[in-house]
Amino acid sequence: MHTYGLRHDHAQEHSQHALAMMAELGVVPHPDNFLIFYSYLAGSHPDMSQMIDILRSNHREFDEIQCKAIHDRYFSTERERKITDQITADLRCQLNTALDSVKKIGVDTTKYSEALDHFCDFISSKDFSNLEQSIHTLIGATRQMEGVSQAFGQGLENSSSEISRLRQDLAKLKHEAMTDGLTGIANRKAFDEKLREEAMAAMENGKALSLLILDIDHFKSFNDNHGHQVGDQVLRLMANALQRNVKGQDFAARYGGEEFAIILPQTTLGCAKQAANMLRHNVESHNIVSKSNQKNLGHITVSIGAATFQYGEPLARLIERADAALYLAKSRGRNQVASERDVEREEEASKADQESLKSPDGKAAKQYCA
Ligand code: GH3
Ligand code: MG
Ligand code: MG
Repeated sequence: MHTYGLRHDHAQEHSQHALAMMAELGVVPHPDNFLIFYSYLAGSHPDMSQMIDILRSNHREFDEIQCKAIHDRYFSTERERKITDQITADLRCQLNTALDSVKKIGVDTTKYSEALDHFCDFISSKDFSNLEQSIHTLIGATRQMEGVSQAFGQGLENSSSEISRLRQDLAKLKHEAMTDGLTGIANRKAFDEKLREEAMAAMENGKALSLLILDIDHFKSFNDNHGHQVGDQVLRLMANALQRNVKGQDFAARYGGEEFAIILPQTTLGCAKQAANMLRHNVESHNIVSKSNQKNLGHITVSIGAATFQYGEPLARLIERADAALYLAKSRGRNQVASERDVEREEEASKADQESLKSPDGKAAKQYCA
């Protein structure tokens, strides 16, 4: 938990400035957003302040999506809360069991101490007529106590292994929720989370962040020719190849169907395009051999779209640009890489073509066929 300067005059100054800044930036004035701007002015979260400085210097909008992303990253504990709620509920259950044992052992200890008291009284009375019977009773009570202690120890051991099991289950559940069932690499959910994290990190450290979207060419015909199961196998091979070929901090995920996405932190658009071409070449240069009959099924190719993150933009926009670039790579004949820059050039060229077809009065000129 962060502490803020507690001087009243500072607090008042920060809160007034925060409200003024929110008004100036058009930020909706609710408590979550206030927390962001108060902390920014108080300097309590230096990473966040640096990111906000970059956004401001780039004249980015602080709309609700942007503010929510900032709040989630620096202040929201919702996800952690859900997981810890579950752990605490299970732990409470385990502790209740342990507590019941402690209560029970308490009752049994009282009974045992009564038996000991009784025996002491008996010794003090020096009337040993019932000595054998009294010793027998004491031995019985001691044995019973021994049994209870053992059961208590066992109960605690069970609780502790149950708690470790719960922890492992949670880790496994989290891994499964983030993994694609067919290929074993990260799924769309993991991709979304990672992209959000990396976008925030890019704004913090001022580095570039690029995205590749990759789609297998003519995969429908591949399935039609070789069967869906062989198609599935190809998707697994593809996922392995991507995972092997991306470097340390890069992140490959199955985006859906026969599409994959690669997040490239600290990578400019130019370098992303180079990386994409290496991947494309790698895929093209491997032949696929059928597992069942060792038959050579030839090779597959991929088309790749590349785009780079503009600080502060909604991530859907980045994905849209990578998608548009992918679409261009497909329309240019597949088995190639296109970037958002290529899309822009293409759009400019087609605009220029349209302009050149217009007559001086601004109306479209007639076209003559030769
Ligand atoms: P394009 O080059 O334009 O991408 O052509 P395409 O045939 O790859 O694209 P289209 O969108 O027409 O078809 C996608 C195919 O991908 C159809 C579908 O059967 C196949 N596919 C999607 N998911 C899976 C999967 O999990 N397993 C298998 N075997 N095939 C899949
Ligand atoms: Mg597709
Ligand atoms: Mg395809």
